[in-house]
Amino acid sequence: MFQVSDTRLILLGTKGGPRVSKGRANPANVVVVNGRSYVVDCGYGVTRQLVDAGIEAHEVCTILITHNHSDHMLELGPLVYSAWAGGLCEPIDVWGPPPVNKLVASFLESVAYDIDIRMADEGRPDLRKLVRVHEFESPGPVFEADGLKVTATKVRHPPLTHAYAYRFDTPGQSIVLSGDTTYSPELIALARGADILVHEVMHLGSIDQMLSRVPNAPALRKNLIAGHTTTEQLGRVAAEAGVKTLVLSHFVPGDDRSITDAMWVEGVRKSFAGKIVVGRDLMTI
Ligand SMILES: [Zn+2]
Repeated sequence: MFQVSDTRLILLGTKGGPRVSKGRANPANVVVVNGRSYVVDCGYGVTRQLVDAGIEAHEVCTILITHNHSDHMLELGPLVYSAWAGGLCEPIDVWGPPPVNKLVASFLESVAYDIDIRMADEGRPDLRKLVRVHEFESPGPVFEADGLKVTATKVRHPPLTHAYAYRFDTPGQSIVLSGDTTYSPELIALARGADILVHEVMHLGSIDQMLSRVPNAPALRKNLIAGHTTTEQLGRVAAEAGVKTLVLSHFVPGDDRSITDAMWVEGVRKSFAGKIVVGRDLMTI
């Protein structure tokens, strides 16, 4: 029987959105179960954040992608490549919705020249044979291995058809990662009774201030409200799911330092009485 201490979650990047800015890194998390590292989402910078968290790329055994917005998958290919560069010799599994198959295949094609050279010159194995992509299009069990069970549910993140949240269950711990979603009853069902829910969050009051800095403001605002969760909505989600600890992450806006921790918590606290953690990069939970 595995112990509670065998599972830990590290927030690697806590800023929502593809823009790279000072402060928080783009979305990524890692769940370490009995020494095996499961990366959830691969925003730009995921490899560097992993290394800074003390995990080498080649120690990653599995990667799960919640959805294929670029802030969640831009560095998927490079992470797999870095694992290979670091001496990957066991297959690495990649799970996610379409078009994750195409994404990995296109990346591997784009670096074929380098792979071929290093295979011949450095005696490396063929990276293309070490990557196993498991594309799925419906909710349900994802995989079960080494005392860990991973389940996915479909969440609401229009206009994407395929966006998923993942639940990790070990004998001692249950962790749910929302991916990107607006208020989703499906996610509440998945997260019911979980020890930890890592959920995206949007501070509506600060959105307009953020939008004043970008040229595509009207379309972006409409998209943000339809596809993301406000602090008030998040409080309801956590309360209805009955989770013990709620971890705020994927902050939108994620680079506005005038938003204090108290401001992030304020709306959530209206409905949720449990423990609230305002996530930071490289925080271990
Ligand atoms: Zn998204």
